[in-house]
Amino acid sequence: MGPRVLIDLTAMRHNLQRARESVPGSRVFVVIKSDAYGHGLLRVAKVLADAGADALAVARVDEGVTLREAGFTQDLLILEGFFNAEELQLASHHQLIPAIHQAEQLRILEQQEVASPLRCWLKADSGMHRLGFQPDDLLEAWVGLQQLPAIASVEGVMTHLSSADDRNDSKTEAQLALFLPLAKEIGCATCIPNSAGILGWPESHSDWIRPGIMLYGASPFINGRAEQEGLRPVMTMESRLIAVSHYPEGAPIGYGGSYRCPEAMSVGVVAVGYGDGYPRHAPSGTPVLLNAKRVPLVGRVSMDMITVDLRSQPHAAVGDTVVLWGRGLPAEEVAEHVGTIAYALFCGVTNRVPRIELGG
Ligand SMILES: *Cc1c(COP(=O)(O)O)cnc(C)c1O
Repeated sequence: MGPRVLIDLTAMRHNLQRARESVPGSRVFVVIKSDAYGHGLLRVAKVLADAGADALAVARVDEGVTLREAGFTQDLLILEGFFNAEELQLASHHQLIPAIHQAEQLRILEQQEVASPLRCWLKADSGMHRLGFQPDDLLEAWVGLQQLPAIASVEGVMTHLSSADDRNDSKTEAQLALFLPLAKEIGCATCIPNSAGILGWPESHSDWIRPGIMLYGASPFINGRAEQEGLRPVMTMESRLIAVSHYPEGAPIGYGGSYRCPEAMSVGVVAVGYGDGYPRHAPSGTPVLLNAKRVPLVGRVSMDMITVDLRSQPHAAVGDTVVLWGRGLPAEEVAEHVGTIAYALFCGVTNRVPRIELGG
């Protein structure tokens, strides 16, 4: 009767196709960091590699090592690169492709001998101000990298967009105006857009693209919906109604009694809570889907349970299926109620919840 997550692999293949057709001719790094946004690293790597992804991208060296040890031989970009000699050696041993984004990495590369030289991408900071060489230092880093014995090749220059999720934010144009001439001067391959760039900013389309959230079937845009972008939700988090009770007007519900029944009413208990990754801060009014109709959460989220208002569903019964997000209830809509984003809902699902594949 506990919660489970359904992973629709057919939807995932469709979403990869959406990314491809959005930027015809570009090559695709499928971003599968953080356990493929909670969908399962190895499962997703296999599905997307079989569906023709050109290469894989993860955040950290250890994620790359996990993929290599599982037998994945595809090109594998490490978005954060390496941070010390040990990680560099692992990257060399496993033929990972690190992003080189700061001078400290150049020093490590100078000091270390590696068994096999690495391919890498150079990362520029065009305005995100997180990782990347400053525009003024980029050319020097590019030239310096080429001369290092530990480097086999620099595949190109990448940058990351900070505000592409807002189609009206001029920061994206400013970032491109800074980055594109630099890349042109260097004369190398480029890799710019995340999902929001792919779907919303044709000017950001480059030789390589880095879709993440769109592969999982959520919109990258503020107040966006997957459906508007032709994407299909991959993850459905569902559980069941495990109790139905009737309470008098004024009855307090759950921890702290923060919700009081405004009238005599039925309240349902659903077997899902923050111990499963349902957000602890979901307020009363957050929708859940019960028998294909939205009903509001009431009271506080517990570790293993939530309570819902059944006034609109007099026939609801123990055992009925409840969708927390996914098919029929966009994760984006739930995230807006909670003050978060679909990415965080997906990544937050805990190990206790079994994942069930559909369309394998
Ligand atoms: C996570 C990440 C992406 C993918 O972003 P989405 O918004 O999920 O498409 C692309 N590039 C970098 C550098 C990232 O960290």
